[in-house]
Amino acid sequence: HLDRIGEVDGAVHAFLHVDADGALAAARAVDGDIAEGRQPASPLAGVPLALKDVLATEGVPTTCGSRTLENWLPPYDATVTRRLREAGVVILGKTNMDEFAMGSSTENSAYGPTRNPWDRERIPGGSGGGSSASLAAFEAPLAIGTDTGGSIRQPASVTGTVGVKPTYGGVSRYGLVAFSSSLDQAGPCARSVADAALLHEVIAGHDPMDSTSINAPVPPVVAAAREGALGDLKGVRVGVVKEFAGEGYQPGVLRSFEAAVAQLRALGAEVVEVSCPNFTYAMPAYYLIAPSECSSNLARFDAMRYGLRVADDGDHSAEEVMSLTREAGFGPEVKRRIMLGTYALSSGYYDAYYGSAQKVRTLITRDFAAAFEQVDVLVSPTTPTTAFKIGERVDDPLAMYLADLCTIPSNLAGNAAMSVPSGLSDEDGLPVGLQIMAPALADDRMYKVGAAYE
Ligand code: GLN
Repeated sequence: HLDRIGEVDGAVHAFLHVDADGALAAARAVDGDIAEGRQPASPLAGVPLALKDVLATEGVPTTCGSRTLENWLPPYDATVTRRLREAGVVILGKTNMDEFAMGSSTENSAYGPTRNPWDRERIPGGSGGGSSASLAAFEAPLAIGTDTGGSIRQPASVTGTVGVKPTYGGVSRYGLVAFSSSLDQAGPCARSVADAALLHEVIAGHDPMDSTSINAPVPPVVAAAREGALGDLKGVRVGVVKEFAGEGYQPGVLRSFEAAVAQLRALGAEVVEVSCPNFTYAMPAYYLIAPSECSSNLARFDAMRYGLRVADDGDHSAEEVMSLTREAGFGPEVKRRIMLGTYALSSGYYDAYYGSAQKVRTLITRDFAAAFEQVDVLVSPTTPTTAFKIGERVDDPLAMYLADLCTIPSNLAGNAAMSVPSGLSDEDGLPVGLQIMAPALADDRMYKVGAAYE
């Protein structure tokens, strides 16, 4: 895999940092275990993985795609990183991303965009475009992403790979640099549902270091994927969310989705249409809640505690050093979100914006609850369009935000959701994804359906 990265990553730019020495040392340790007859630490011992650059890695650069954290070396491992290491997973390096995970195309990285291996003139999705592109380019067989509004599922969809957002609280956020804490969730990326399930079980589970971590058994996703692979969905009720269609959806994406639904029916599933009327308001609610939380979370980058510090010459006050550093270190999208969020949280506007958005969030959660009384899983296209061209939406933030239209409701409600490849669009020959959503703590249900479908 290191050789493959050397061959293709100049063109793809999935990685921000390749840790060849660390990877080889980890691989040799697993070899040593096997040579001496010791049981490998997990089924994934020795398997290489690409880690999104938003998860802390002790002594290995962690930039979040931002100049602010250029050259920052975390003094500790995120819980996800630690669990990977303990399982013998070989971390190849850190993958490119939109700055602080804000974006849908990886074009907001301060270190230049990642290119979609299917067509290098196109975006690989975002914010975790590097992780998904590394899978599609065969630079790594496994990757980790994080999903605040779709950043695992949307890149999976447009690169023809699998991406899973586990139930909120299913995977520890300790050491995951916070964007929007009530929405952020790390999860597995892979080229098959079965591989994603194995990785899911390595990283999931209660962590006392994260106060929102769920203290309950990890859903049996590996067993569910095995069961699904038998290809029998008799007795499984699948709901088609009728709000996820119409204007803004490419006809090729909708045709692929119809074919996917027909296949689920052919596998024995009972398919019904369900309505989630408040999903229409998910996007505006998200773009108040996520910037609000980001404006608070990113206050920690104050030029004193981490990374970049400019104008530290004795002629500038601490306040000037702080504001000049933030001016130099943050890109335009991050600044836009901080300003939006600060505005939405300010007194006088709080109730009108943030308060209203939180009420919409409750309505969306109720829509899901009502739908899951009728069906076991919900399905939709993962993204309204296939991969768009690099540069096409950079000057139009609202057009960029639309890429996450179908993925955002599951973050607001905290339930589980995944994207599985659904073939190529008959319109442009590019990958399309099928989104499968399950109730909180029932991640196994979507793995069963995903494995049967793939
Ligand atoms: N595209 C969405 C945003 O820009 C989601 C990003 C994410 O999931 N991290 O906020």
